[in-house]
Amino acid sequence: MAHKPKPDRTDAVIIGAGASGAAAAKVLTEHGLRVVALEKGPWRKKESFGGDELANINRYNLWPDPLTNPRTHRTSASEEAKVNLFCPVPQMVGGGTVHWQGWLPRFTPNDFRLRTIVGELPGTTLVDWPITYDDLEPYYTKVEWAFGVSGQAGANKFEGTRSRSYPCPPLPMSRYAQKFHEGCRNLGYNSFPTPQAALSRSFNGRKRTVISAFAQQHGDPTGTRSSALNVFVPDALATGRYDLRPDCYVHEITVDEQGRAKGVVYQDTDGDFIEQEADVVIVACGAVETARLLLLSRSGRFPNGLANGSDLVGRNVTFHEYSAAIGLFDDPIYAWAGGGYVSASSFEFYEHDDKRGHASGGLRRAQCLGCEQGQP
Ligand SMILES: Cc1cc2nc3c(=O)[nH]c(=O)nc-3n(C[C@H](O)[C@H](O)[C@H](O)COP(=O)(O)OP(=O)(O)OC[C@H]3O[C@@H](n4cnc5c(N)ncnc54)[C@H](O)[C@@H]3O)c2cc1C
Repeated sequence: MAHKPKPDRTDAVIIGAGASGAAAAKVLTEHGLRVVALEKGPWRKKESFGGDELANINRYNLWPDPLTNPRTHRTSASEEAKVNLFCPVPQMVGGGTVHWQGWLPRFTPNDFRLRTIVGELPGTTLVDWPITYDDLEPYYTKVEWAFGVSGQAGANKFEGTRSRSYPCPPLPMSRYAQKFHEGCRNLGYNSFPTPQAALSRSFNGRKRTVISAFAQQHGDPTGTRSSALNVFVPDALATGRYDLRPDCYVHEITVDEQGRAKGVVYQDTDGDFIEQEADVVIVACGAVETARLLLLSRSGRFPNGLANGSDLVGRNVTFHEYSAAIGLFDDPIYAWAGGGYVSASSFEFYEHDDKRGHASGGLRRAQCLGCEQGQP
């Protein structure tokens, strides 16, 4: 192993440069802090995105490669865990936002107090959030305005109070969104244009270009869709205080004599192990990898891993749950045309209702099935 000098201590080290890590980097650097970001994946530029389905799906250009970085998955403790592409969020600078669609409806005020609304649910660990919708509202607004979200304020009648409208009007409506709105209207349901982190007009120096839903899902070479990669990362870099190190895999969070996080040990592009110390350590690796890193950072003092006094770290992970209904129409739907492959939604069945026999509800949305399967 080559000898490399230990890097200077910094104000904050952030593990992960995805949605939350890059957002934290923007905020901290803009407030004058020096930030080192360690990202296990590459730093792709827009030229490497596009509709190459073989590269993106078969060769894991965007998704985590299960050969080099396998994840195992089981649904109960008695089951044998199997390698599975569970939660295939891109692991690279920009994280999940590199191939997200960018739907950004807000949580409703009741989402923050579901335990109070639903009551005790045996076999669950359901609790209210320690913050309310009103606490979070200014930050929803900041993100919507940083990303140039396209939407229609007030259209979702279940949404909480907002301090500002959307920066851009809704994206053009697709034919199937029109059908969805029409159907909801006939049934007396509220529906609204799905707010999306994609520009319906030029915004903040960024141009709107027409992109297909397919291209969006495979990384967006046009920059029309907003992401951590094309918004938060450049904003943080512009301060001159963001030292972003791609291809650097953090193996462990180190602690001082008081048991407080003092830095991280990571493996750099050459495979060398380096210790980076910082006043503050921020773990922003996504749900699965954050839990894994905390559990791997165990010591005599923390035998169950870090921040795991509850023994809940790494348990009860969930991913999107989907159910679907399919409609056939006499007239053509032109699924490829319009603002993204989901452009209309309804929260009509979103709030908890005791009569339904399950906790909480779900979002209904008009979706082009062909696009979900990657067919433009
Ligand atoms: C197909 C798909 C579509 C989605 N669409 C939407 C949508 O429309 N709207 C929406 O709100 N959400 C969407 N999401 C979810 C959204 O992408 C995630 O919720 C979000 O990216 C999570 O942010 P995060 O910062 O927690 O993690 P991530 O964005 O996953 O970032 C974590 C980063 O940490 C890095 N990392 C992990 N471990 C280490 C380590 N040990 N050392 C160094 N770096 C590490 C990873 O490489 C990654 O880049 C979608 C997700 C998927 C998979």
